[in-house]
Amino acid sequence: MYHLPVLKNRRTLLERAEKFISDVYFTDCNLRGRLYGESCPLETIASFLTPNRITFSEASKQNFEPYEVGGTFGPTWWTCWFKVSMTIPESWRGKEVHLLWESDGEGMVWRAGQPVQGLTKEGEKTSYILSECLKDEEPHNITLYVEMACNGLFGAGQGSMIAAPDPNRKFSVQKAELVIFNRDVLKLLTEFEMLVDIIKELGEGEQRGYQALFTANEMVNLCDPFDPSSFSKAHSLAHRFFNQRNGESQHTVHAMGHCHIDSAWLWPYEETIRKCGRSWVTAVNLMEKNPEFVFTCSQAQQFQWVKSWYPGLFSKIQHYVKTGQFIPVGGTWVEMDGNLPSGESMVRQFLQGQRFFNQEFGMYCKEFWLPDTFGYSAQFPQIMLGCGISNFLTQKLSWNLVNTFPHNTFFWEGLDGSKVLTHFPPGNSYEMKGKVEDLVKTVKNNKDKGRANHSAALFGFGDGGGGPTQQMVDRLCLVRDTDGLPRVQMSSPAELFSQLQAESALLCTWAGELFLELHNGTYTTQAQIKRENRRCETLLHDVEIASSLAICQNKTFVYPVEKLQQLWRLLLLNQFHDVIPGSCIGMVVEDALNYYKDIHNDGAALLLEACEALESKGSSSAVFNSLPWERHEVVQITDGTDEPSLALLRAPSVGVSPVKETQPVTPVSVTPQTDGSVIMENGILRTVVSKDGTLASLYLIGANREAVSNGCAGNQFVIFDDVPLYWDAWDVMDYHLQTRKPVLEVVNPAQVVSSGGLRGSVGFTLRISDKSTVTQEVIMDTMCPYIKFNTKVQWAESHKFLKVEFPVRVRSPNATYEIQFGHLQRPTHWNTSWDWARFEVWGHKWADLSEHNFGVALLNDSKYGYSVHKNTMTLSLLRAPKAPDATADMGTHHFTYAIMPHTGCFQDASVIQCAYNLNFPLRLIQCRPETEAWSAFSVSPSSVILETIKQAEDGKGAFVARLYESHGGTVTATLRINFPVKEAWHCDLLERRDTTQPARITPEGISLNFRPFEIVTLLLIL
Ligand SMILES: [Zn+2]
Repeated sequence: MYHLPVLKNRRTLLERAEKFISDVYFTDCNLRGRLYGESCPLETIASFLTPNRITFSEASKQNFEPYEVGGTFGPTWWTCWFKVSMTIPESWRGKEVHLLWESDGEGMVWRAGQPVQGLTKEGEKTSYILSECLKDEEPHNITLYVEMACNGLFGAGQGSMIAAPDPNRKFSVQKAELVIFNRDVLKLLTEFEMLVDIIKELGEGEQRGYQALFTANEMVNLCDPFDPSSFSKAHSLAHRFFNQRNGESQHTVHAMGHCHIDSAWLWPYEETIRKCGRSWVTAVNLMEKNPEFVFTCSQAQQFQWVKSWYPGLFSKIQHYVKTGQFIPVGGTWVEMDGNLPSGESMVRQFLQGQRFFNQEFGMYCKEFWLPDTFGYSAQFPQIMLGCGISNFLTQKLSWNLVNTFPHNTFFWEGLDGSKVLTHFPPGNSYEMKGKVEDLVKTVKNNKDKGRANHSAALFGFGDGGGGPTQQMVDRLCLVRDTDGLPRVQMSSPAELFSQLQAESALLCTWAGELFLELHNGTYTTQAQIKRENRRCETLLHDVEIASSLAICQNKTFVYPVEKLQQLWRLLLLNQFHDVIPGSCIGMVVEDALNYYKDIHNDGAALLLEACEALESKGSSSAVFNSLPWERHEVVQITDGTDEPSLALLRAPSVGVSPVKETQPVTPVSVTPQTDGSVIMENGILRTVVSKDGTLASLYLIGANREAVSNGCAGNQFVIFDDVPLYWDAWDVMDYHLQTRKPVLEVVNPAQVVSSGGLRGSVGFTLRISDKSTVTQEVIMDTMCPYIKFNTKVQWAESHKFLKVEFPVRVRSPNATYEIQFGHLQRPTHWNTSWDWARFEVWGHKWADLSEHNFGVALLNDSKYGYSVHKNTMTLSLLRAPKAPDATADMGTHHFTYAIMPHTGCFQDASVIQCAYNLNFPLRLIQCRPETEAWSAFSVSPSSVILETIKQAEDGKGAFVARLYESHGGTVTATLRINFPVKEAWHCDLLERRDTTQPARITPEGISLNFRPFEIVTLLLIL
């Protein structure tokens, strides 16, 4: 029988229960104050400080100096190792004994040379269990090591989380002692806490909330904190409440332990390795204690790190993968950015990831896992299906600033019509804490009520690691089936998705990209990283093609399998969702640029070796074309003298041709005008470059069409104030558009640099501000249908955004942007909130604005941010955010973009091919004088692009050729191969042969059918 509350006063009863478990108030007499019993100081603590991240065996050999609790150590990014000796008092027999360790750094406990647990105050892990129930025969004298990293879970931001790190921060250990831990108190505290949260979350409108209120109140009446024998009565009252069960229709929450670890962000890559170690060893401990506990874990790269740095932990992980508790998810090398990597890079993310998981754990992931990425390409569904993945989980679209995404569980249909089952955990988080609030939110926010009766709840500290705690597991287990709350089951992604699939009849479909209406500055921030990414993608493409051809030409050539894998993995690592977007600290930028340097140096050497095998070295020069069409371009050559000169060269499709200069049909004419402007003409285009470098006119001669809008000028640099609301490196806000200022101050007016013939060009310099300038060469080549702008910017701004505008004489409600293996349209108007929320969008090598029979394309060699509003095409060039990297983008930048007016549609005008040509330079190689031109591959029609040729992952004698339909049409194409191929098979993106689909080889080549934007991969057996 309950004690009768005196008054009908919900508030006093609720607050009474809250105070009973408060860690701030009344701890002298409440239950919380009894969590720990007696304590005892440690015998000795000694420390050793090092700037390096060293191994345990190296650390344990060092000289340790005495350390006193409270003493400081540092600075940031150093490591302080502690040697801790302790003697557990005999009298603690039968008690649970903990080492209590509180510090603002991130710690790892080492025992007997093995990592045994992470200790992170921010992650609610401050005690290491020495004994669950002390027995006489257990060792009482124990020595441990604690490795303390001088950084917190979120690095060491100066003043705010995302501020640049404070390089001189000091850290300390605030508490280090032995304590008796009262587990029965913790159990009751958890029950109280869940009841209090139910009272608060269910509110006054639900009778279940009042039942929780009176249960909690009576438990306080029954429970004497100082008399553990009173606990059982309180506990059975709680038990009765929590065991009142739900009806059959209740929603089921699939709880999965998770620990989102950014592969680099506010800390460098090297620290991430230790974050993985600390977080995962803790997760493995939880598995040992809780057989039902499961932990989902993504990013093959992190597994690879743990494998090489913590081999003992890795073999435990292998064991728990087998038991189904440690669940590798995602299938990718890292959780990459979802917008910027090329199509081939995205395939390689899965190829490297899935192959790693298969090799180490004998399994392929069945779900793509990208909870924290800034938008999702419309090609993902096709790429996922091609990699054996039919389910997708994220939640980031809940961050949309403008529109609320209408679904939590739905089918996502990609560019080519591929569909994947997609789930956004309705709690809008990937780092829940197992609290009532999380469960209630999961049910309430679900936008597919009545359609999907299952949801995921990912629990565990995240971003900087940390992961789940025992308390989170305890909370969730307590409310497995409690009337008023959703059912909770520890579950796996496979279980969740199979339930969702089984009941998918009422689910809606979302077609096209999942555009994040936030973080749109990440298409531009850290321009150097983006440029290097593009250049390295291009280089590896060429290395693979040249090496494949080298094998066909020269049987002694050895395909550089391991080196290429290593370089790809570096490139893929830098595509992590805080690196390529530019949202990382300066240290990470430095690491990333060094990795790119490695790719360049090693890639260039591989390319040279392959080209030397292609054509035996000789005194003559040849030109290598890696693209699947013939090219006829102006190329810079060295003709024996030191002076570089230009030549107009022809190069066959995927092949080599000796350098033979050809004569232009129409040489470029360059004519300076009296007003300081310069007219350039090449028979295709005529342009007027004004004194200030803008284009007063851009005329498409054959069509008699002016491309520049009436009364406007093309190539207009503009600068904006760029102060977001919080996420500095990430966000550009809509209001920045109101601060547009044209860059007008001329330092050096337009002057002729190349006077015509093969090339005409005009150079000029503008002042952006007293600190920044832009210098440009406007280039017109003979035969070339576009004008190039080779650009150099000295950039020393603060919170400014530099763009270049082309107002064009085209009217269309939609502009087209290149994405991975295809393109899509976005509106040029701001009718609805969904339209204007896309005021800054991403694209790859080109964007196009076309009306019937005429259009203009804007190409680039290293940029990703675009906007086309009404008839103005804008390319985003440089930003100047100050957090988390205070020096982001400061310095000198080089980049090239190009403008291309055309008749017809962009497909027929070869805009796609021109953008490839701009990005993949013809490469000069050495050859013997008698070399003749040859082509290894060609494809027709040109709408099908041969993107990749590489040796098959599974070995010699087999090649992979990947093609895609680029126009958005159904087509039958022919791939011609000019070397003997024994067999050809269709295969998936993981290069697994489809034995039902041989490809027929005829004398004309291999005939292939394509849907719009379909990716087709062939296995060619030599
Ligand atoms: Zn993240």
